[in-house]
Amino acid sequence: MSEVNSRVLIIEDEADIRRFVRMALESEGLEAFEADSVKRGLIEAGTRRPQLVILDLGLPDGDGVDFVRELRTWSACPVIILSARSSEADKIAALDAGADDYLVKPFGAGELMARVRAQLRRHTQQTADGDSTIRFGEVCIDLVHRLVERGGQTVHLTPIEYRLLTHLVAQPNRVVTHKQLLKVVWGPGHTEDSHYVRVHLANLRKKIEADASMPKHIITEAGIGYRFVPDA
Ligand code: CA
Repeated sequence: MSEVNSRVLIIEDEADIRRFVRMALESEGLEAFEADSVKRGLIEAGTRRPQLVILDLGLPDGDGVDFVRELRTWSACPVIILSARSSEADKIAALDAGADDYLVKPFGAGELMARVRAQLRRHTQQTADGDSTIRFGEVCIDLVHRLVERGGQTVHLTPIEYRLLTHLVAQPNRVVTHKQLLKVVWGPGHTEDSHYVRVHLANLRKKIEADASMPKHIITEAGIGYRFVPDA
């Protein structure tokens, strides 16, 4: 674990799930705090200053999306959503509001801890250094000169492909929704045209993935968006 005694806040109204998550966190030396409502969660987030929040969407006094919106007005703390598969629209709303990742219930302790580690690592990386070169797999991106290489060979990207790539790699292990990509790459007038993203992303994959049909770095989150995984 990148940080000793990272504090994690669990906001979940089902006591069994809270206990399960707490045990998984504590078994890896993380400190866990619990809340069972949106209101209590906001109070705990303010007083405990956690490094990570694990958030259920269906809470007795409101929606987890409201929690994310409120938290984002004063904190960049990563948020992992716990969700039932049926609430895909809620999941997208939470990601668009600023959540970072989601887990579908039921989930295993191993899966949960992999996501937790990825978010804690991302958080420390972001606060560490401002290097202008990004490397993953065989790919190297020179952000200053806007050059992309794969296996030492220059890769020619269109301006849209370059913007898609740099936006994704800036947020490793984070789920980025179609809407977020459209807004950043095409502008706020195109937030419903998610087929644009699919078409250009398919072309980008052909250029940067070793096998575009089995991508290892730009992973599809079906119906939601994409996740950049640096260390495949
Ligand atoms: Ca619930």
